[in-house]
Amino acid sequence: MHCFTYREDPDQEPRVALTPGTAARLKRLGCALYAPTGVGSQSHFPDEQYVGVTFLQSTTPPPEARILLKIQPPTPDEIAGMPKGATLLSLLDPFRRKELLPLLAERNINAICLEMIPRSTLAQKMDVLSSQANLAGYAAVLQAAREIPTILPMMTTPAGTLQPARVFVIGAGVAGLQAIATAKRLGARVEAFDTRPVVEEQVKSLGAKFVKIDLGNTGQTHQGYAKELTEEQISRQREGMKKICGQSQIVITTAKLFGRPSPILVTSEMIAAMQPGSVIVDLAAETGGNVEGSRPNENVRTANGVLICGTTALERTVPQHASEMFASNVAHFLEHFWNTETQSLELPEDDEIIRATVLTKNGQVVHPAFST
Ligand code: NAD
Repeated sequence: MHCFTYREDPDQEPRVALTPGTAARLKRLGCALYAPTGVGSQSHFPDEQYVGVTFLQSTTPPPEARILLKIQPPTPDEIAGMPKGATLLSLLDPFRRKELLPLLAERNINAICLEMIPRSTLAQKMDVLSSQANLAGYAAVLQAAREIPTILPMMTTPAGTLQPARVFVIGAGVAGLQAIATAKRLGARVEAFDTRPVVEEQVKSLGAKFVKIDLGNTGQTHQGYAKELTEEQISRQREGMKKICGQSQIVITTAKLFGRPSPILVTSEMIAAMQPGSVIVDLAAETGGNVEGSRPNENVRTANGVLICGTTALERTVPQHASEMFASNVAHFLEHFWNTETQSLELPEDDEIIRATVLTKNGQVVHPAFST
């Protein structure tokens, strides 16, 4: 089967959906691999490292391509250039980019939406949201550490003792737990809060303190996501976090709600009580933000000298490892659904992962969340 990997727009996306390592894995399956020249250059994978990949001058897939690999959702022009009947694996941002779905259906593309990989043990190895969130959590701490005017660890020198920085992580899912672990490694004093009670043990096992705020019934969905809080619960949460925010030099917010805008958890009033030079990294900035006044991809300095960083997709700051993990998730998907006898990809309709991820097929939008 012919497989084409897109070169992403270098102004927006340094990652690549195929690495030299995953190219070798897909070759072993029997794929014939094609890519435009420079496909991995932004992630520092030169063409020479891609053994067995045929490089093309064109950025459009050859007509024989049956599998298309991408990271960012395709543009309408890219969709128009896709071979009819091909299977696309990509992030598709389907809740915000609904207009792409009829275009993909019209082109008869089997569109696999990588954000919709279910949170099952079986599908964990294909889960791009988790693999990228891990890196974003790590990178958020590094960004904050660069921006605060102090160091993170306690340091005792003949000149005196510097106290460790206090870090408060709001939302201890995949990104939050990695942020906690990274801040601990750098020697900070770390506290964290999450509405899912099951997280308390995980936070403690990383050596951080779990902040207790009584919100009544919270819980999680069967997919492991947080449930939306009531207005009353959110204001109780804000009240409970106010003092800790005021004492922290770094606040990292990661509280997202799948498919819905993120809740505002850190208000202007709470920010006004923080010390000058403190830094808030809002990892939810792209989906509405957890922090009042945060703006996607901007750093905002408040009147009292607090820096709010709304950097989105921080995993892009470590593109080589982010590509390695993303591409490996994609390769796991292909390996899982590969028929070794026919040397082709098979997407059984009754499979749980296929039902969750296929958005368009046979000229139709087929996913129940998007078909009308
Ligand atoms: P996410 O990105 O949707 O949310 C991040 C965190 O924010 C979550 O822990 C959530 O509980 C928390 N949150 C939401 N609203 C909040 C609020 N008001 N205040 C404080 N925190 C709030 O979630 P995620 O990080 O992708 O994953 C959450 C959990 O799902 C993980 O911890 C993991 O246990 C599970 N998971 C399982 C799999 C799998 O089994 N394949 C894959 C990924 C995640």
